[in-house]
Amino acid sequence: MSETVNTFEAQQQGRPTGPLVHGYEVIIGFETHAQLSTQSKIFSRASTAFGAEPNTQACAVDLALPGTLPVMNKGAVERAIQFGLAIGAHIAPRSIFARKNYFYPDLPKGYQISQFEIPVVQGGAVEFFLGEEKKSVRLVRAHLEEDAGKSLHEDFIGQSGIDLNRAGTPLLEIVTEPDMRSSAEAVAYAKELHKIVTWIGICDGNMQEGSFRCDANVSVRKPGSPLGTRREIKNLNSFKFMQQAIDYEVRWQIEQIEDGHTIQQATVLFNPDTGETRAMRTKEDAADYRYFPDPDLPPLCISEQWVQDVRGQMAELPRSMAARFQTDYWLSDYDATQLTQSLALATYFEAAAKACGQAKLASNWITGELARRLNGQDLSIEQSPVSSQTLGQLIVRITDSTISNNAAKQVFDALWEGADDVDAIIESKGLKQMNDTGALETIVQQVIDKNEKNVAEFKAGNDKALNALVGQIMKASQGKANPQQVNDLLRRKLG
Ligand code: ADP
Ligand code: MG
Repeated sequence: MSETVNTFEAQQQGRPTGPLVHGYEVIIGFETHAQLSTQSKIFSRASTAFGAEPNTQACAVDLALPGTLPVMNKGAVERAIQFGLAIGAHIAPRSIFARKNYFYPDLPKGYQISQFEIPVVQGGAVEFFLGEEKKSVRLVRAHLEEDAGKSLHEDFIGQSGIDLNRAGTPLLEIVTEPDMRSSAEAVAYAKELHKIVTWIGICDGNMQEGSFRCDANVSVRKPGSPLGTRREIKNLNSFKFMQQAIDYEVRWQIEQIEDGHTIQQATVLFNPDTGETRAMRTKEDAADYRYFPDPDLPPLCISEQWVQDVRGQMAELPRSMAARFQTDYWLSDYDATQLTQSLALATYFEAAAKACGQAKLASNWITGELARRLNGQDLSIEQSPVSSQTLGQLIVRITDSTISNNAAKQVFDALWEGADDVDAIIESKGLKQMNDTGALETIVQQVIDKNEKNVAEFKAGNDKALNALVGQIMKASQGKANPQQVNDLLRRKLG
């Protein structure tokens, strides 16, 4: 495994240095277990449904009864292919299942079936924005494996039990290069990965139920030095804890080094109650697992045709959708990325854009006012009280000059509170802009007559004086005049 470490090292040369913490550079690599959304297990026909009575969903294969044989679940392989295609990876035409040997009560076979030397998905990258900066985290691999069971500590009877319902649940383990340079970047990566697997529908993404679990490998070094020794924080199942755990771990490692200690490679757990990480065991090496090819399973062969078929059935991916939004709707890379945060959001945007024919305005409303409201009440786009059609109608009324931007905010307020007819709201609140030039001209003339000083200043070359006049006219029209029209009229009248 020292070769692997050297490869990581070589690959980190020439990558930009991240933000320093007390003079140290933070290096992070992720291993994520995404539970694949198949009905049955990876090598047996038992159900994968969550929350059943212990041991009601474990068949003879999952219990590792002698004489049973694993049979590969095609749906799990297809989901791995989908993932590989989504992140631009190589799909191995032939990959191998291996036995990872270790003893634990929740692992009745005494080994976990995984992939080791030749994983099914190789390479690829996950791209995302960190603030306004575009990042790309390279993936080493993604491999198929089975989950283990669970130990249940029944405190009330002072005994522990084993629940094998989870044993044999299909997992895709997704491994990155140590490309991340801060806890914020790590969280942004994890969110993007979560978006991809849920978008393509290979994983339900439920972090509380453990469907998407991240292990963060963290080390620190002085810029330009070789990679430091890493510690691996296990099973981070919320984005909030992820950031807290990494920040704590970074501080801890720097303190150790500054105090003259060396970092020992270890597996640690984050305790959300104390906000601290604690060593669970010293980290084992690959050699400790005595990996060898599983003689019960033939090599996994994936034909080019199979890959093409899977590709043909996949919906448009976030990345290509974002690219299309840029060319079709003239949106910036940033806006397009924002709008493809989820399939539901992207669908909402396209529907609103079509309804009003003003993609840029739709984008602004969705990423601005609407996003603010949704976030404020912790709602998802699916729960938005304002439908995409209704938002589209609101935008139409802005572009056809029926209402001003300010009035539009008032209409939006009413829509948010449950009203749904844009024109009826405009009518009942009297928000219609004054588009009657005759009436507007009268007001403009009145304001000009009453404000000789401003008029003189403007004529003397002071453009600011015009704003004062516009303001007066807007007030006199009770906000119903169109500011642009007022501007034009004034300039015309004052020469
Ligand atoms: P293991 O076999 O223990 O799982 P790997 O070699 O597969 O170890 O690496 C696991 C993860 O650790 C990868 O995501 C990799 O990017 C990350 N990693 C490797 N070296 C470092 C390091 N020095 N600092 C931080 N992360 C690292
Ligand atoms: Mg690993």
